[in-house]
Amino acid sequence: MRQSKLFTKTRREAPADEVAKNAQLLIRAGYIHKEMAGVYAYLPLGLRVVERIKQIVREEMNKIDGQEIIMTALQRKELWEVTDRWNDKNVDVWFKSQLKSGAEVGLGWSHEEPITDMMKHFIASYRDLPAYVYQFQTKLRNELRAKSGIMRGREFIMKDMYSYSVSEEEHQNFYGKTMEAYKRVFERIGLGDRTFPTFASGGAFTQFSHEFQTLCDAGEDVIYLHRGKGQAINKEVLESGMEQMGVSRDELEEVRAAEVGNIFSFGDVKSKQLGLYFRDEDGVEKPVILGSYGIGITRLMGTIVEIFSDGKGLVWPESVAPFKYHLVSLGREGDDISKLAESVYAELVEADVEVLYDDRDLRAGEKFAESDLLGMPHRIVVGKDAVATGVFEVVRRVTGAVEKKSHAEILAS
Ligand code: ATP
Ligand code: MG
Repeated sequence: MRQSKLFTKTRREAPADEVAKNAQLLIRAGYIHKEMAGVYAYLPLGLRVVERIKQIVREEMNKIDGQEIIMTALQRKELWEVTDRWNDKNVDVWFKSQLKSGAEVGLGWSHEEPITDMMKHFIASYRDLPAYVYQFQTKLRNELRAKSGIMRGREFIMKDMYSYSVSEEEHQNFYGKTMEAYKRVFERIGLGDRTFPTFASGGAFTQFSHEFQTLCDAGEDVIYLHRGKGQAINKEVLESGMEQMGVSRDELEEVRAAEVGNIFSFGDVKSKQLGLYFRDEDGVEKPVILGSYGIGITRLMGTIVEIFSDGKGLVWPESVAPFKYHLVSLGREGDDISKLAESVYAELVEADVEVLYDDRDLRAGEKFAESDLLGMPHRIVVGKDAVATGVFEVVRRVTGAVEKKSHAEILAS
C-alpha cells in the first residue's frame, strides 16, 4: 500500500483524556480512532492487525474442529430470564433497549444463552455430538471503568467458542485440546513465553476455570505465578489454587497480568436450564455438556502494544504486523532513487509480500520517525547508496539492527 494514499495521518499528541499507553500510541499512529471512552474505531492499519490476530485464532480453532458462525447482536430478554441473567444484579454490564412495540431487547455482551438455545434446532441425538462453534463478534458491555484503552472497551471484539459434548469425559478431552490450541495462539503471536494458564474461580459447575494471563504492567489482574510449573493462580482463588497445585505461597511471584482468554466448564447446568437434551445410544434423554472459551482479540492487540512498544512508538511482532516491510524512499518524484523504490515496490507486490511504501516527498528524518512510530518489523531504505550499489539497508524495528541486503535477498526472505 502506498502511504501517499493512506487517509490516516500520524500525530504528535494523543487526546488529553486518553491515559492508556496502548490507546495513546495507536491513536497517534492512526491505527484507531477514539469515538468516546472505551469505544474505538479501527482504521486501515489497526484493522489489519485485528484481522491478523483473528486469522491466527481462526486457524487454531479450525484445527480442533471449531466451526465459525456469527450470532446476532440483538438478543431476546426472555432467553436470559430463563437463566436469571437478564437481572442487572447478576449481570451488571447490559446495554438494554426497546423495540417500537415496547418489548425489551438486549445488546449482546455474551452469547452462551442464544447459541445454546439455537443448538436445540440441531442437536437431538448422540450422533449430532460433539459440536464446536465459535465466532468473532463485537461485544457490547456497559463497563464501569474504561481507562485501559482497547484493553477494556465498552465495545470490543471477542472470539467466543462453545463446546457441546455427550459426556464429562468428552468435554474434558476437548477442554485439554483447547488449552493446547490457546498455547499455540499465544506462541504464534509472540507472547508464548509470558502467557500462563491460570486457575480462576469456576462459577456454577466446577471449582476452577482457566484464564490465560499475559504478564503486563498495564494489565488489570494480579496473579501468583509459579515459573517452574509455568502456571499461575488468580488472586481471587489463591488458597484453593495453591492446594490444587501443591505449592506454597513463597514459591509464587505476585505479578500484574492481562486476562487475554479464558475457558469455562458449564457442565449440564445451562443445558438443563435452557432445555438442550440429546438421546444416547439407548434412547435415554440426557443434558448436553457445555463449555465456553473466550479470547479478547482487541485486548490482545492492546497487550501486544503495551509489551513491545518503545520510546519511538509501536513495535509489531511479524505475525500480527499490518505489513511485514516498510519501504521508505528517500528520493523525490522522478529521480533515480524514487525510480528504484518504485521498482522494488512493484516487485514486492508482485511477489505477494506485504509492504507499506512511503512514497511521499518528505524529509528523511521525518519519514524515519514516522516509520518508527508505525512499527513495521522491517524497514527497507532506498537512498543514494542503494542506487549506487544495488544493496539496501534493512533495519529491524525491534533491535534497530541494520543489515545490508540485495534485491534478491529481500525477495527471498
Ligand atoms: P474481565 O474480568 O477482564 O472483565 P471477563 O471475565 O468479563 O473479563 P469474559 O466475559 O469471559 O471476560 O470474556 C472473554 C475474554 O474477553 C476475556 O478473557 C478478555 O480477554 C476479553 N474481555 C472481556 N471484557 C473485555 C472488555 N471490556 N474489553 C476488551 N476485552 C474484554
Ligand atoms: Mg468482565
